[in-house]
Amino acid sequence: MTGEKKKKVVKTIKVDADKCNGCRACEVICSAFHAKPEYSSNNPARSRIRVIRDPLRDIYVPVKAGEYAAAECAGRDKYTIDGKEYDECSFCRASCPSREEFKEPDSGLPLKCDMCEGEDEPLCVKWCIVDALTYEEREEEVEEEVKQEELETGLKSLADTYGLQEVMDTIARMSKKG
Ligand code: SF4
Ligand code: SF4
Repeated sequence: MTGEKKKKVVKTIKVDADKCNGCRACEVICSAFHAKPEYSSNNPARSRIRVIRDPLRDIYVPVKAGEYAAAECAGRDKYTIDGKEYDECSFCRASCPSREEFKEPDSGLPLKCDMCEGEDEPLCVKWCIVDALTYEEREEEVEEEVKQEELETGLKSLADTYGLQEVMDTIARMSKKG
C-alpha cells in the first residue's frame, strides 16, 4: 500500500578514522550534553559515541550508538584493516546483552545517538577539532507507506477482542459517517 510523497531530512556524521587522534573530546561533550541536568557531569560511560582505542597500535575509531538489540546475534564480526586486527564486535553500534558498551552505567538502559536533538549541529562534530567527524544533511523524497503488517496485526487483535462481525459493523458505520 502506498501513500503521498513526503520530504525527509537524512542526517549523517561522516567518520574519517585516519584523522582521529583518540582525544575523546567527542565522548566528553556527548555525555555532558546528555547528563541530567544538562552539563552537570561528563562521565564518558554515558556517551553515545565511543572511541575504540588501542594507542600502542595507533588505533582510534569513533563509533556512534545505534539501535538496541534485545538478544546477542548468532554471528560476530572481526575486522582486519591495514594489517591491524580489531576485537570482535568492535564496530557494532548496537546496545546488546553481550557487552557493556552503550549502556547507561547506573540503570543499564540502552543508549542511542539522537544527533543532539535541538542543536543546530551535533556536538561531537563541533568538538572534534581535527575534523575526524563531519556533519551532512540532505533532503530525500519518500513515499509514506502504511505498514500492511501492522495494520493486519491491529485488526486481528480487535477481531479477537470484539469479534470479527462487530469490527466489520463498526468499519461500515464509520465509512457511512465519513
Ligand atoms: S573528538 Fe575527534 S579526534 Fe577526538 S576522539 Fe573524537 S573523533 Fe577522535
Ligand atoms: S551526535 Fe550528539 S548524541 Fe550523537 S554521538 Fe554525537 S554528541 Fe552524542
